[in-house]
Amino acid sequence: MKLPKLRELKEALTAVFSRRYTSRFPFRDSPAPEGFRGKPLPDDQWCIGCEACAQACPSDAIVIEDRKKEAVRTITRYWDRCNYCGQCEEKCPQPHPGVKLSREYDFSGYTPDEMNIKQEFELVVCSKCAGPVGTLKQLEAVSGRIGPALASSSPDMLLARQIQIKRQMPGKAKRKEITRSDIFTFLCPVCRHEVYRKEAGN
Ligand code: SF4
Ligand code: SF4
Repeated sequence: MKLPKLRELKEALTAVFSRRYTSRFPFRDSPAPEGFRGKPLPDDQWCIGCEACAQACPSDAIVIEDRKKEAVRTITRYWDRCNYCGQCEEKCPQPHPGVKLSREYDFSGYTPDEMNIKQEFELVVCSKCAGPVGTLKQLEAVSGRIGPALASSSPDMLLARQIQIKRQMPGKAKRKEITRSDIFTFLCPVCRHEVYRKEAGN
């Protein structure tokens, strides 16, 4: 019985006179190691608001809201729902990911609003049904990537490249009928199909 007690005493004395084992966080920064998967942070230079990451997210931590009347898309990334799987970064179609898992792990805050980050994008809406076509940044990025020759085969891409010439303005009223001239307006795939079908006399 005596021996274990002496051993415990020795351990206690060693602990008192040795250096601290734990970091001084939060009083001092304690950087996470390389490769740590923390807060996903968007990169506005590369994120085009395409929503691919939201579709890949298994935790519904990325919420897309399209306000069609104002032609605005909001992307909210909720850190308190995130499981740090990295799918958003991996599935981003951009050459440099539009969102990256950072080495940040300090999530303390006083309100739920401090647990998320929001981005806003200009939304292109269909000139007939007002459905979302995509963000303007997305159309520009895709048309830039496929090049002018291929982009000119898609009126939406062409318009995105020549946005200063013609553009679907926010809040524009929906129209019931579409005509041949509507080919060179922003249309969602369903309405564009309707224009071409009418054009072919079907
Ligand atoms: S997939 Fe990439 S570019 Fe698209 S919304 Fe997500 S982060 Fe942005
Ligand atoms: S790391 Fe995973 S859970 Fe978190 S936002 Fe990205 S995809 Fe969703």
